[in-house]
Amino acid sequence: MIDFPFTPIADHPLFRADEIRRALFYAPGYVVAVPAENADAFERHLVSDEPPQWAAISELRRHAIQAEKSWHDLLSRPFTPVCLTLYLNNECNLLCRYCYAMPSSRHAPRLRPEVVAAAADTVARNCLEQNRPFTVVFHGGGEPALDQPFAEHILDTVESVARRYGLSLLRYIATNGTMSEQKAAWLAERFDMVGLSCDGPADIQNSQRPRLGGGDTAKAVERTARIIHAAGKTLHVRVTVTRDSAARQPEIADYICAHLRPAEIHVEPVYRVGRGEQDETALRDAEGFTRAFLEARAIARRWGVPWLNSGSRPGEIHGPYCHVMRDVLQLVPGEIATTCLKTTDRAQADAGGYTIGGSDGHGGFTIYAERIAAIRSSLAATPDSCQSCFNRYHCVRACPEYCPVTDNNQRLGSFRCQVHQLLANALIRETATSLPVGGNGIAGAPVRLS
Ligand code: SF4
Ligand code: SF4
Repeated sequence: MIDFPFTPIADHPLFRADEIRRALFYAPGYVVAVPAENADAFERHLVSDEPPQWAAISELRRHAIQAEKSWHDLLSRPFTPVCLTLYLNNECNLLCRYCYAMPSSRHAPRLRPEVVAAAADTVARNCLEQNRPFTVVFHGGGEPALDQPFAEHILDTVESVARRYGLSLLRYIATNGTMSEQKAAWLAERFDMVGLSCDGPADIQNSQRPRLGGGDTAKAVERTARIIHAAGKTLHVRVTVTRDSAARQPEIADYICAHLRPAEIHVEPVYRVGRGEQDETALRDAEGFTRAFLEARAIARRWGVPWLNSGSRPGEIHGPYCHVMRDVLQLVPGEIATTCLKTTDRAQADAGGYTIGGSDGHGGFTIYAERIAAIRSSLAATPDSCQSCFNRYHCVRACPEYCPVTDNNQRLGSFRCQVHQLLANALIRETATSLPVGGNGIAGAPVRLS
C-alpha cells in the first residue's frame, strides 16, 4: 500500500500527505512540497479566505477550482464530437485470449458507407465550427484492415466528406498487424498513425495473440512495424498485460523499444470483459503489477519512449472512457452510435442503454441528446469509496469492467483501483522529489506524466 497516504483537507479537492521531513500538498495535477515544520501553517493558510501568501498556495487553489470546473464541463457541455471512431466489422483473424470484443470468425454485419458518410458530416460540421481538424479512427471490434477493399471504401468516404468541408484529416488505425506485406504497405500509405497491438517478445505474443486456427503472429507484427517506419508514419504500440506477463513488463518494454521502435507504448492490464472475463488471464496483485510497470517505464525512458497507462492520467481531468465525456462519435454495425468502447454492434449497445445516436434513414444522423444527458447523470454520481480519494479527477474507476450507466451499485474492482492510486501516487512523488527547493523550502510543480 501507499506509504504516507494523501488525506483530504478541505471541501475543494486538496490533499495532504505527511512524510518524515516534509509534507506534500496536492490539488489535481499539481504538487507542493513544504518542510514539515511549516506544514501546519501552510495548510491553515491554504484553506483560509486570505489572499495567497505564497505562489504555491495560488497554484494549489487554482488547480483545485479548475478541476471541479473541468469535471462539471465534461458532464454538461454540448456533445459536439470532432472524432469519428469506426468499428468497421466484428470479425478478426486472431484469437486473442482476452479479447473484449469477441469477434466472429465468419462474415458479420458491417458499417454501411452511407451511414458513415452521414455521421462524418455531423463530425465535420463540429470541426468547422470549432476550427479543429477531423480525426477518424479505424478500430476493430475485430481487425479493421481485415477486408482491405471495404476499409479503403470507408476511408475514401470519410476523406471526401472532410474535403467537402475543407478540413484536414488525421487518419488513425488500431490493428493487430498480422497481415501480408502488401496489406501493411497499403495501411502505412493510407493512414497517418498506426496503433499496433503487441504483448511482448515472441513467446508472450504468440501465446496471448495467436492466429485464429493456430499459428504465430510475432514475426508478422515485427514486419508490419518495419513497413510503417519505412513509410515514415507514426507508430504507437498497445500492450495488454495478463497475469502471465505482468512480472515481465521490463523485458516487454525492452523488446518493444528495440524491435518495434514506437513513439509511445500504451500498457493496459487485461479487462475482465468478453473473453477476458475468464479467470485465467485476470490480474490480482496490484502492487506486483505496479512495481513491474514502473521498472518497465524506467527502461522505456532510457529508449526515449513514454510507457503509459490510460486508467489514471494526472495531466488531464477525466472519468470513465465513456464517449459522452469525450468528443468522440463511435459507430458500430447496425447504423447507430454508442457511448461505450466495449460495444461492437447495435444489439449490445441497445441492451446496455448505450445507444446515443443513429441514422435517420434519410441520409442524416441524429444525436440523442436526452439519452446523453441520462448517461451523463449516471456518470456524475461519484461512488462513496471515491469521494475522498486524491485521484478522483484522474481515474476511469471500474470502467469498462463495471459500468455506472448500467449498475448503480458498481463495485470498484480493487485491483484497478489500487493500480490507479499506486501509479498516480508514483508520478506525484517523483515530481515532488525533483522539485527545486527555494529559500523557504516550499516548491511546487505540475505533476510529470511519464
Ligand atoms: S463501461 Fe460504462 S462507463 Fe465505461 S465506457 Fe462503457 S458505458 Fe461508459
Ligand atoms: S477507483 Fe480508486 S483510485 Fe479511482 S477515484 Fe475511486 S478510489 Fe480513487
